Amino acid sequence: MSKKFETSAIRTQSETTQFSEHSVPLYLTSGFVFDDSEEMRASFAEEKQRDLYSRYSNPNVNEFVDKVCAMEGAEAGFAFASGMAAVFSTFATLLNAGDHVLSCSSVFGATHGLFTKYFPKWNIECSYFNINEVDAIEGLIQPNTKFIYAETPTNPGVDILDLEFLSAICKKHNILLVVDNCFATPYLQNPIKLGADLVIHSATKLMDGQGRVLGGITVGSKELIREIYLFSRLTGPSLSPFNAWVLSKSLETLALRVEKHCDNAIKIATFLEAHPKVTWVKYPFLKSHPKYDIAKKQMRLGGNIVAFEVEGGLKGGKCFFDSVKMCSLSANLGDTRTIVTHPASTTHAKVEPEVKRAAGITDGMVRISVGLEHVDDIIQDLEQALRS
Ligand SMILES: *Cc1c(COP(=O)(O)O)cnc(C)c1O
Repeated sequence: MSKKFETSAIRTQSETTQFSEHSVPLYLTSGFVFDDSEEMRASFAEEKQRDLYSRYSNPNVNEFVDKVCAMEGAEAGFAFASGMAAVFSTFATLLNAGDHVLSCSSVFGATHGLFTKYFPKWNIECSYFNINEVDAIEGLIQPNTKFIYAETPTNPGVDILDLEFLSAICKKHNILLVVDNCFATPYLQNPIKLGADLVIHSATKLMDGQGRVLGGITVGSKELIREIYLFSRLTGPSLSPFNAWVLSKSLETLALRVEKHCDNAIKIATFLEAHPKVTWVKYPFLKSHPKYDIAKKQMRLGGNIVAFEVEGGLKGGKCFFDSVKMCSLSANLGDTRTIVTHPASTTHAKVEPEVKRAAGITDGMVRISVGLEHVDDIIQDLEQALRS
């Protein structure tokens, strides 16, 4: 039976136990027992498919992985303790000393840190392509390029990259396309269907959606995930059963929540666009977005992140922050609570000015992760903060 998105999110469940429970129990166990030595031998030799040890797999983790695979249209996946564990373990599996990564210029801050602080010590090179100069991308591919790395929508600039375009370049040069799909969630965008090889998520964000637990996942072909699994079962970045249980429950409502997040976000983006104290607004489903057509082509809705610039540069940005009453000042995103951040003075304070410019970060820029409060209340808070 081919199931629709909402149905697989709810009906993908681990096997029922002898207690006939309706809701999946929590399997807080580090290990699993074997009937005899032969079963144990066959299991370790992978002749028998079963859980051995929770660093390798666990029923709650398997359920979470199966759901995300169904949502992304992927063959296989491996779940991690955080989004960064997913990013790092995927890189560590794919890359050898001497390899090169071509990445979009605006990546998540910690991923940027990995590229610039740790890649050099392993003799791995990374160069950035400018998201606004896509025609130059192909020319930046080197003989040692292993993959193109992309985030779309980007953080915090909310720029859009054409995934079909990137995947065509990758196929032509026989390299992989790896996409961090965290901002879109599998409900809004499925990179594998657009030609990506691997998709990474920080489940901490909209997948949990309630700001409770950390988690991450990488999904893709059986072959690539097998390599990631072998690296990870040895090195131990695995997701805990408890967090997997929370996240799997959260996925049951992902479609509903994301619909509402997006509905609030477009209303807020429209409000900001008409406000005299706002110099610009960026939201993928606003007609004024430079990549509106691409966003419409590859995304179901525009997502929950809105970027805008307050008049008055750094001072204007800081003043706006100090005036916000209800919205939270926090570095997280994808929560039920609306969160505002000032990238120039926080997450991107240590980023080089030219990298900031290329990522579209200005001093007065504000990023809003639109939550699920009533949209009128969010607008009222933003309105009074802009006025002061
Ligand atoms: C948050 C985030 C990450 C890292 O995820 P954690 O769960 O915080 O480790 C990676 N990529 C993007 C786009 C993110 O927003």
